Amino acid sequence: MIEPILPGSAVGVLGSGQLGRMFAIAARRMGYRVHTFSPDSDTPTGQVSDVEITAPYEDLDAIRKFAQSVRVVTFEFENVPSAAAATAAEFAPVRPAGSVLHVAQNRIREKAFLAKAGLPVTPFRTVESAEDLARAVTEIGCPAVLKTAASGYDGKGQVRVVSVDQSEAAWISIGREPAVYEKFIAFDREVSVIAARSVDGSVADYGVVENRHANHILDVSICPARVPHPAAARAREIAHAVLEALDVVGVMCVEFFVEPDGGLYINELAPRPHNSGHFTFDASITSQFEQQLRAVCGLPLGSTELLRPAAMANLLGDLWAQREPKWAAALAHPDVKLHLYGKLNPRKGRKMGHLTALAQDAESALSMVLNARAALLA
Ligand code: AMP
Repeated sequence: MIEPILPGSAVGVLGSGQLGRMFAIAARRMGYRVHTFSPDSDTPTGQVSDVEITAPYEDLDAIRKFAQSVRVVTFEFENVPSAAAATAAEFAPVRPAGSVLHVAQNRIREKAFLAKAGLPVTPFRTVESAEDLARAVTEIGCPAVLKTAASGYDGKGQVRVVSVDQSEAAWISIGREPAVYEKFIAFDREVSVIAARSVDGSVADYGVVENRHANHILDVSICPARVPHPAAARAREIAHAVLEALDVVGVMCVEFFVEPDGGLYINELAPRPHNSGHFTFDASITSQFEQQLRAVCGLPLGSTELLRPAAMANLLGDLWAQREPKWAAALAHPDVKLHLYGKLNPRKGRKMGHLTALAQDAESALSMVLNARAALLA
């Protein structure tokens, strides 16, 4: 048996955004010390950590020193260069492993991995040349979505292709970079399953979460999702299979499209806690952040039981456009919780915080969280 990493130890986080912040809060609550590493300072994670290291991910000497000072390294941001994960792994276990990052940070590798594992991925073709593009258009057809293989998030680096004659312009618009050309799915809903897998291979998931996007950015999540039981059960089964196939130690989010007949396609993977799991901080026995800590430290996983149905609404920088949002008005709803990430500059589209509402059913939680958010501007 591998010895668990116990409270009092230092844990390291690569990345310094809100996911790391909530991880650090969970870890410090359990008596761990937290070191964070990113190119920035006074970060959401750094503000609540014991040690904040500011250096580029390419600075392997700094990575070495960081990894030597902690018992385990995890991350909250997957686009860390593979050399950083490999260097850290010489000094401390990196969980999930660099091999998981390698797959999840590139859409071509991710989709190819899922397809090879027999998991239901959106039909796609790899595009690395004009010939590939022509073949993809013939084989997949239109409408479709063309997405850059690397560093795309929140809808960046992707363009919809409605007709064949648009495909070349679409590829030019994403810089003729390696891409995936995937079938446009006329989905009924988007859902996600967040699951954790521990060092001993045990897996726990948070059930199915329903997600709504606005301008390609997650807007609202609702748990439990309003999807029929067979589709929900299948999504959870698929998520477990993904974590096992990738040998994940840590937390992973599997995002799906659900078709009107209940058919499921995996859209993408995130090898870390996810925005759609923020409600777990207030609404679940064990939050996704505490679960990440337990998983990477080799401790038993906690219960993922939902205490009450919940809904989460993101707070983007747009809310600050006129004046400071009216926090007291949102908090006048006693079952609403406010989370702010300590970011100083509320740019348009920037995730600044979120609200979570708990209620007796998901519909009520949804309307409560939307009312509370609207009250910020009233
Ligand atoms: P992604 O960055 O891949 O998560 O895509 C961002 C959003 O674009 C998704 O959450 C969907 O709302 C939409 N989208 C992406 N790919 C497709 C697709 N193949 N079919 C339909 N909608 C898509």
